[in-house]
Amino acid sequence: MDFQSNVFTLNTVDGVSFLTYDRLSQIPFIRHAFSTKIGKGSRTRHPMDMSFDRDDREAVTENYKLLCNAAGLDYSSLVASAQDHHTFVRVCTSAEKGIGIYREKDMQSVDGLVTIEPGLTLCTYYADCTPLFFVDTVTHAIGLAHGGWRGTVGKIAEKVVGTMRESFGTDPKDLVCAIGPNISVCCYEVDESCAKEFYALGLQSDRFVFPKEGGKYMVDMLECNRQILVSCGVKPENITVSDVCTKHNSDLLWSHRATKGDRGLMCAMMRINPDH
Ligand SMILES: [Zn+2]
Repeated sequence: MDFQSNVFTLNTVDGVSFLTYDRLSQIPFIRHAFSTKIGKGSRTRHPMDMSFDRDDREAVTENYKLLCNAAGLDYSSLVASAQDHHTFVRVCTSAEKGIGIYREKDMQSVDGLVTIEPGLTLCTYYADCTPLFFVDTVTHAIGLAHGGWRGTVGKIAEKVVGTMRESFGTDPKDLVCAIGPNISVCCYEVDESCAKEFYALGLQSDRFVFPKEGGKYMVDMLECNRQILVSCGVKPENITVSDVCTKHNSDLLWSHRATKGDRGLMCAMMRINPDH
């Protein structure tokens, strides 16, 4: 496997591989991980599939335990969002522990999770879409959101910042954010109706929508989300952007487009450390 990145570390513990952002690993009060398809002992049809929808529940549960053990996270503390391409953000407390994992999913239309409670581990799902990580270095609140193209143009990034501001008093200039890994501009081709929604955002769209022949467009969802965060007051130097494309790294990561839909889901996890 030829994995190269200037922003991620590829960790392998007990045969289970996961990515961490070097920038987020430097923050002492949090722990985070992004899963891969590499997991020794995984019994799901798609290795390390984190979706309960398409595989044996017990085998998927094992995948969560494998990842948590490798990444030093607590399985019992997980709370998972839906992944249904909306832009609702939910403030989570320890009362929500287990939802979407070992308790019934009660997260209709929720694609963003935020918390200020130590010990609760937020979890969101991906297979080309854009993960968004938020860490408030002053109040020590955190957020995690799933940005597909609909969530991106629906400005879920802005909604997370707004929810953290209202709920925790977060000042955007104190946020450290990370964007990705996702299907990057090298591989993310869309048609005109989708491109129009990106143009309509009123940002510097010439930096994230690139017309090509045949009425198709290449879209850079990393740069689009980055500009949305900057427009919310997040400092550019506090935003880390992925340099790993899911489709280009389909030996390591699940990519909806690389597998034409026959794939597993990966997840992002992040918590405020319980001893914090
Ligand atoms: Zn690519």
